[in-house]
Amino acid sequence: MPRTAIVTGGTRGIGAAISIALKEAGYTVAANYAGNDDAARNFNTETGIPVYKWSVADYDSCANGIAQVEADLGPVEVLVNNAGITRDAPFHRMTREQWTDVMRTNLDGVFNMTHPLWNGMRERKFGRVITISSINGQKGQFAQANYSAAKAGDIGFTKALAQEGARAGITVNAICPGYIATDMVMAVPEKVREGIIAQIPVGRLGEAAEIARCVVFLASDDAGFITGSTITANGGQYFV
Ligand code: NDP
Repeated sequence: MPRTAIVTGGTRGIGAAISIALKEAGYTVAANYAGNDDAARNFNTETGIPVYKWSVADYDSCANGIAQVEADLGPVEVLVNNAGITRDAPFHRMTREQWTDVMRTNLDGVFNMTHPLWNGMRERKFGRVITISSINGQKGQFAQANYSAAKAGDIGFTKALAQEGARAGITVNAICPGYIATDMVMAVPEKVREGIIAQIPVGRLGEAAEIARCVVFLASDDAGFITGSTITANGGQYFV
């Protein structure tokens, strides 16, 4: 039986590449998204991967969404916490809403998705929880106190939960991408983007598929001894 995977924010950008790579690796994939119905419809038409709409920021929506996926596709054995947003502002201008929105999606969302799936993974003695953090959660970034805090929180969550899951056959890992060519980065003004690329030793942005391949590896049986770890994939921009 193919394993079932949920990819949050799985219809665009890095998440779409992850959904496609997991499907190609033989998984049954459910791609979650929040609100961009057109992108989700196009993704579903192009890939045949079923799409499910709910916000990871809301616990009950996650629990209900997961129940629907499991009714349709079977028990979820692989969770990829990929959904994320930015609401950048220097701290003196950051609003409470910008702080809260980012925390609710990028950190609470990881709890909201992992918690309803955790007991099922423990009972079945197998699970993979893979969370997409960020280089900016490792090093901090100007105008991203909210995003850096949430993404650093994702790493702490990963290290703690790995200890709890280990005896139950559940691995919990994080990936910290550097700058990847997706809508999130292409929305940055071109001049700023050129400045970013100048700071990347390999001289280019990363590709979403390069992050997806890390996910496929961490999800595999071959990665069973890797837990609590963070894969840094940033073109040499920052060494942990
Ligand atoms: P995109 O903005 O291209 O896509 C984000 C995806 O997340 C979309 O599918 C979006 O859904 C979904 N999403 C946003 N909010 C929610 C929510 N509340 N509930 C469910 N889904 C949601 O992002 P990227 O592909 O660039 O980023 C993916 C992840 O990688 C994020 O966690 C990001 O922080 C991280 N990352 C990205 C980097 C980059 O350079 N791009 C670098 C380091 C980390 P919808 O389509 O409905 O809007």
